[in-house]
Amino acid sequence: MTSETAAPAPSSTFRDLALIAPLLRKLDELGYELPTPIQAATIPLLLAGKDVIGQAQTGTGKTAAFALPLLNKLDLSKTKPQVLVLAPTRELAIQVAEAFQKYATHLPGFHVLPIYGGQSYGPQLSALKRGVQVIVGTPGRVIDHLERGSLDLSALRCLVLDEADEMLRMGFIDDVETVLKKVPATRQVALFSATMPSQIRRIAQTYLKDPVEIAIKSTTATAANIRQRYWMVSGVNKLDALTRILEAEPFDGMLVFARTKLGTQELAEK
Ligand code: AMP
Repeated sequence: MTSETAAPAPSSTFRDLALIAPLLRKLDELGYELPTPIQAATIPLLLAGKDVIGQAQTGTGKTAAFALPLLNKLDLSKTKPQVLVLAPTRELAIQVAEAFQKYATHLPGFHVLPIYGGQSYGPQLSALKRGVQVIVGTPGRVIDHLERGSLDLSALRCLVLDEADEMLRMGFIDDVETVLKKVPATRQVALFSATMPSQIRRIAQTYLKDPVEIAIKSTTATAANIRQRYWMVSGVNKLDALTRILEAEPFDGMLVFARTKLGTQELAEK
């Protein structure tokens, strides 16, 4: 693999990145002032049609780093999928599809569809028939649609592998490879992964063309003045354990993170 390493240009603005007016308008409305480092590095490369390997975690702004340039390049008059994003979980697929929808507010005729297992085929099939430019899906369900003939990737221009290491960890890597083999040879590929295990490197070497590699240091590195401790408790005892901590530890404020929307809600209510 001939990979170059791009140095992020942190001083550039979204206007410098030559995004189209409807996207810039939305970014203004969202209050995004400056591109994050992964965005500053990735957006020009994806606009220029390069394959990209982005080593970046959640929270670095990686979703907009691929969503913005790919939206920028869409042909909205066409209704066959032009962009396919593969994501490890249903939740991430929905989240990424929502991000595309959000950034595309001022792009009339834009359609994105999340497809994932556990959801009935009916609504997915009718949306696919109506036409979508961007699909965000979990690998298994994408393959199901390819096998049924309900997903036409003949006009695909870009494939994004989001959280590739998670897809590997969850056992989807063969499915990912199957999809890579079925998309047109002329497509652009962007691969994002927080870590680069050897199997992900191999995928990149086999399927990406002269990729430019971008590594962004995690913004979530722990500050030196933070002490980390953990307490192992089984599921049913978690609330009791948290209650004990709340009673025992003095605090002014506290942030509690939960894995799912529902779990967050239930915990807040309790
Ligand atoms: P991500 O890493 O893609 O999960 O994004 C993390 C969060 O940062 C999301 O809530 C985005 O809406 C937000 N975000 C992404 N890019 C920017 C930016 N340039 N300025 C401000 N917020 C941003």
